[in-house]
Amino acid sequence: MIEPKKLAIVGGGPRGLAALESIYCSLVAKGIPNILKTQLFEARQLPGAGLVYDISQPDTNWLNFSQRALTLAKRDRVKCEFLVIPEFPSYHDWSGYIESKDSCLLPDTFPLRSTLGKYLNERFESIAYVLKKAQLLEVILIEVMETEWNNENFRIIAKDGTVYNADELVLTIGHQPTKHSEQMVQWIAYNRENSSVDLFTDPYPVERVLSSDVLTPGSVVALRGFGLAMIDMMRALTIGLGGKFRTTDASTKELTYVKSGREPFRIIPFSLDGLPMSPKPLNSEIDHWFLPTESEKVIFGNQIRTIAKEGESSSPLFIIEAISTIILRVYKGLGDKAAIKTCSDDELISVIIAWLNNSDFEHRLLIAKSDLPLDVMKAFIGMACGTKSASLDFCIGQVWRHCQPILYKSVSFSNLKDNVIADIIGLDERLKRYSYGPPVESLQQLLALVDAEILDLKFIDNPNISTTKKGWKLATNNDKIVANIMVNSVLDPAKLLEMNSSIVRHLLEESLVKPVHGKLGIKTKKNACVQLAKGEVIPLAVLGRLSKGTIVGVDAVLQCFEDRANFWSNGVFERITNLKKGSKV
Ligand SMILES: Cc1cc2nc3c(=O)[nH]c(=O)nc-3n(C[C@H](O)[C@H](O)[C@H](O)COP(=O)(O)OP(=O)(O)OC[C@H]3O[C@@H](n4cnc5c(N)ncnc54)[C@H](O)[C@@H]3O)c2cc1C
Repeated sequence: MIEPKKLAIVGGGPRGLAALESIYCSLVAKGIPNILKTQLFEARQLPGAGLVYDISQPDTNWLNFSQRALTLAKRDRVKCEFLVIPEFPSYHDWSGYIESKDSCLLPDTFPLRSTLGKYLNERFESIAYVLKKAQLLEVILIEVMETEWNNENFRIIAKDGTVYNADELVLTIGHQPTKHSEQMVQWIAYNRENSSVDLFTDPYPVERVLSSDVLTPGSVVALRGFGLAMIDMMRALTIGLGGKFRTTDASTKELTYVKSGREPFRIIPFSLDGLPMSPKPLNSEIDHWFLPTESEKVIFGNQIRTIAKEGESSSPLFIIEAISTIILRVYKGLGDKAAIKTCSDDELISVIIAWLNNSDFEHRLLIAKSDLPLDVMKAFIGMACGTKSASLDFCIGQVWRHCQPILYKSVSFSNLKDNVIADIIGLDERLKRYSYGPPVESLQQLLALVDAEILDLKFIDNPNISTTKKGWKLATNNDKIVANIMVNSVLDPAKLLEMNSSIVRHLLEESLVKPVHGKLGIKTKKNACVQLAKGEVIPLAVLGRLSKGTIVGVDAVLQCFEDRANFWSNGVFERITNLKKGSKV
């Protein structure tokens, strides 16, 4: 009997699960699961859920996808003579959401991240159980420190020093820490020497902040960053300390905050531009106002795919122009719900293109950057609830979100120049303020905390920060405040060259990986194999955030279960069956 080949999957989050399902469902369907044995390495306790969807995280960490939008498909049952991989339900079926029963008018609900973690972990266990029983899978709960290629196979070195071997290696390691900025390095040194202050370079787990020795009802907590992680942290510092939000208007999720007396005296968020996120539309009906038609999506996809394949474009303009016609149709279709109705099509198109090209572009159709963040948040909530007419930027952001899946598919694995890909990703990142926005309720919580004089937005726009004996002094022209706790809620970017986890550093030192672009992730082929500096190809594959650049759109859970895992598993199948015939990789 031929020895089975050995696969190592490093990283047991959603992508590690998708990889496992993809390879074994395909091998079982072919009746040959026994040709491959797998070791899956996960640094944490519950594979499937991984770090982001950890089951034990507090209920204050929410998903930014509504239950309605969480269209994670089911896993089909597959069987061969001696192995059955059972069916596993879609997220909707598992969670009891029935689309036809959604009234479309009730506010969307947003699951907890731990709830999705339960789903992912159960889904993992249901396939792992049968694979383990058939002795095809071993799950090893340990961090992998290094991986090496010796021209024959991989050596995988775990944290306890154990060395494992594999013929195939796929890295599904998700978010990786990066080098600290100069500011953070200074703050770490300052924090080390001052016992009366506390610095958290990472907001998660949020419980660490809550158990800080210096957190008291008199504390001022500064939050670096004004995005989704900041909102989780804000909820932890309030609900997590016994406070309560009471609904005052169920139709708009308007709230007031009831203090517990244990929350900090002030929470002070700040960011480089002070711009708030815009919430997702309140319900399915409002969301549908911004929906492109199926034919618009097809035309958009075809247009940009052709240009991306040719690789001729020198900027993201081809995407901007293609999407602008959809935005124009949607904005005009809003009728009375659009903020300004007296514009010609030409003017609208030119504003859409100018704003997508240049974030500094200002126009009466757009929310002004100089507007106070509190007013902007109120305006965005009104637009998301349909009680205020939509500004053009709000409309662009929602259409962009609906077009993201087709955009990501059409420009991944393109022949575009690296700097153009970097600019496309930069544009998509900029629009995440709208497209990855939180639920309306999260923004209403921020407003309620402002009213309760706990959240203070005076320092939101790039304050001067210095360290004093008592803490971090945040100052604007008119105000100053000293925070005794600083939490960095800005998540590390997917910049390969700045990642400093042991596993990635080692890959770089071994010259096994190179970035698509200085600001991006690892260069890979369509089958997810990394492109080595010398152009050689080895059976080392990367799925997910680490490959940002080759792949556009890696940051959401739905993308983990898309085609990419299948492209990778088809490649594994081809390689291992070729190897059996004695040919080289
Ligand atoms: C705080 C946060 C909130 C998010 N919220 C959302 C959201 O609401 N909606 C959404 O769609 N997306 C969200 N995301 C994006 C998220 O990255 C994806 O949804 C998804 O988790 C990606 O899955 P992954 O398997 O690629 O990576 P991860 O989920 O990061 O999983 C990677 C796994 O690899 C393990 N690992 C890493 N290094 C090693 C090693 N050396 N050895 C062994 N194991 C290792 C980690 O422990 C982890 O379990 C969020 C991300 C973060 C960081």
